[in-house]
Amino acid sequence: MSVTAEILDDDEERGFKSGIPDKVLHIDDVHKSFSGLHALSDVDLDVRKGETHAIIGPNGAGKSTLLNVCVGRLKPDRGAVIFDGEVLTGKSPHEINQLGVARVFQTPEVFLDLTVLENVMVPALSKRDGHFKLNMFRAFADERTIREEAIEIIHNVGLHAQLNDSASSMSRGDKRRLELAMGLIQHPKLLLLDEPTAGMARHDTNATIELLKKIKEGGMTKVIIEHDMHVVFSLADRISVLAGGRIIAQGTPEEIKNNPRVKEAYLGEEQV
Ligand code: ADP
Ligand code: MG
Repeated sequence: MSVTAEILDDDEERGFKSGIPDKVLHIDDVHKSFSGLHALSDVDLDVRKGETHAIIGPNGAGKSTLLNVCVGRLKPDRGAVIFDGEVLTGKSPHEINQLGVARVFQTPEVFLDLTVLENVMVPALSKRDGHFKLNMFRAFADERTIREEAIEIIHNVGLHAQLNDSASSMSRGDKRRLELAMGLIQHPKLLLLDEPTAGMARHDTNATIELLKKIKEGGMTKVIIEHDMHVVFSLADRISVLAGGRIIAQGTPEEIKNNPRVKEAYLGEEQV
């Protein structure tokens, strides 16, 4: 067997298929090391337009690193991230955000000295100002429209009772929902979520699943890093599995559940 054939066989075994239709995000051969530690090696990943793509894997697998590479917080040592035909690698987080990529981080990043409402308005106002400079679509959206929309989104994420509370007084789970609202008001083409339900009680986790399902109906593309298999299997159209910085499997939830490599590397640790 030739070397090429072996590689192809290996790719098929991992669940990779060529010619993925409508891919909106293309991660191409990304490597990232931290002082000799290979956090990401040979990472190739395609996300289709409108799908919810889950990235799972054990702690330290490189999931957050991959997300940080996508949003421009980390520069890969090699490889590139291409979104909607634009090479993101080398662009700043702000530039990437302006291209329609929003993210909800593992550690919520909200403005502690602002209220819930103000927090949700900030990304929309800054986006409006960014567009104004670029003379684009939402240039003249006024503050009142943004305020009304922010209130609606806050209602949808279940934080309406805390509309005028300071973000500093919120629980970690509520801060995550606040950050989700801050992402949603941007109407991103691509929403990246790093463990959006971590720190939430089961009731709030279920509410977040329902909310993310609704967004799915709206057609937004989502990449979700998630530890909670209940969340993953409730939401994901396709799943990629990272282990030791490498993608070891990719496929539908059913394929992933039955993939022996995944069972060995990850799912064996948990009851799925
Ligand atoms: P995951 O999100 O899958 O738990 P991470 O992407 O956070 O994993 O981390 C992958 C590996 O890279 C871990 O071994 C982690 O300790 C290391 N790592 C992540 N970020 C840094 C950093 N900024 N500096 C040094 N090592 C890091
Ligand atoms: Mg992480």
